[in-house]
Amino acid sequence: MLVVLETGLPQERTQAIQARLRTLGFAVHARREGDRVVLGAVSVSGENRIEEVRAIPGVVEVKQIREPFKLASRSFKPDDSVIDVGGVLVGGPEVILMAGPCAVEDDHQVHETARAVASAGAKVLRGGAFKPRTSPYSFQGLGEEGLRILRRAADEFGMVLVSEIMDVSQLDLMLRYVDILQIGARNVQNFSLLRAVGQVDRAVLLKRGMASTIDEWLMSAEYLMAGGNHKVILCERGIRTFEKYTRNTLDLSAVPVVRQLSHLPIIVDPSHGVGVRSMVLPMARAAVAAGADGLLIEVHCDPEHALCDGQQSLLPEQFEVLAQQIRIIAGSVGRRLGPGS
Ligand code: PEP
Ligand code: MN
Repeated sequence: MLVVLETGLPQERTQAIQARLRTLGFAVHARREGDRVVLGAVSVSGENRIEEVRAIPGVVEVKQIREPFKLASRSFKPDDSVIDVGGVLVGGPEVILMAGPCAVEDDHQVHETARAVASAGAKVLRGGAFKPRTSPYSFQGLGEEGLRILRRAADEFGMVLVSEIMDVSQLDLMLRYVDILQIGARNVQNFSLLRAVGQVDRAVLLKRGMASTIDEWLMSAEYLMAGGNHKVILCERGIRTFEKYTRNTLDLSAVPVVRQLSHLPIIVDPSHGVGVRSMVLPMARAAVAAGADGLLIEVHCDPEHALCDGQQSLLPEQFEVLAQQIRIIAGSVGRRLGPGS
C-alpha cells in the first residue's frame, strides 16, 4: 500500500512510523515527494492491516496498490523515474542511444565500433563478455578480458558501459567494470540472480523474456526493487511468436503499456527484436515514435565476420544514418537526441 505522511514531519517521527509498519509485517520503501515522505509498504505476511496503518499518527492517506508489482507501479510513483548512470540520464527528455557489438571479439573491434557510435551520438557502449548462446559450441565470450577491453574503450570515448551478467558468481567481477548490469532475456526469471542484483547499487538493464508477459516482466523488476535497487531500466527485445520472417516479434505496444503501468524507463532493442539488419532502422524509428526512452543497437565494423549476431548488426555508417533519423523523430515527439562526440 501507499502510505502518505504529513508534510514537514520530523525525521524521528518518519522513522518511528517506518518501524511501526515493519512490526505490522510490512517491508518499507521510503520516497521523498517535495517536503513530504511517501512510503511504499509491501505486506510480507500477506495480511491486510490497512485500518491499523490508517490509525498511525502522522499518516494522512493510505491507498491500496492493486497491481502485483508494487514498487514498479505508477500507483506507487506517479512521476517518471530518471536513472542517472554516470551523468547519462535515462528516462529524461533525451533519447539515449546504447550501441556496440553483440560480443567483444578483440580490442580493435571494440575500439573502432565505440569510436564510430560515440561520434554518431551514442552515450552508452554495449558489448557482451559473457554470452548466453543456444549452442555450447558457439563463441561464449572473452570473460574478464572482454570486460577490460570494453572499459578501456568506454573510458576513451567518454561513454558509460552496459554488459550482460549471466550468473550470480560473476557479480563482483562485473561490478568492477560495468556501469549498467544487463540481465538478458534468458535470465529474466532467474530469481536468485535478480535477488543478488537487487542488493547492489548499480543500474540494471532488464530485458523482457522471449515468453514473458508484461506482468511477469514487471514482477522481475519488482524483485530488483524489493531488494532495494530502484535503478531499473526495462528493455523490450521482442517475444517469440509463430512468425518466421523476423527473429522475434518486436512488441512495440509494450512501450505505451509499460509507460501506463510503471514509472520505470523503457528502451527498445530492435536488433534482437527483428534479427535482420535491413529491418533494424525502421523499427528503431517506430520505437522512438512510440515513446521509448532509448535504443539498444548492435553495431559491428565487419559484420560478415562477426562471431555473434552479424546478420542483425549495423555497419557504423548505417548507425550514423539511424542517429540522424532518430534525432528528427525525437524532436517531433517532444524529445531530443544529444550531439555526437
Ligand atoms: C544481447 O543483448 O546481447 C542479448 C543476448 O540479448 P537478449 O538477452 O535480448 O537475447
Ligand atoms: Mn546479440
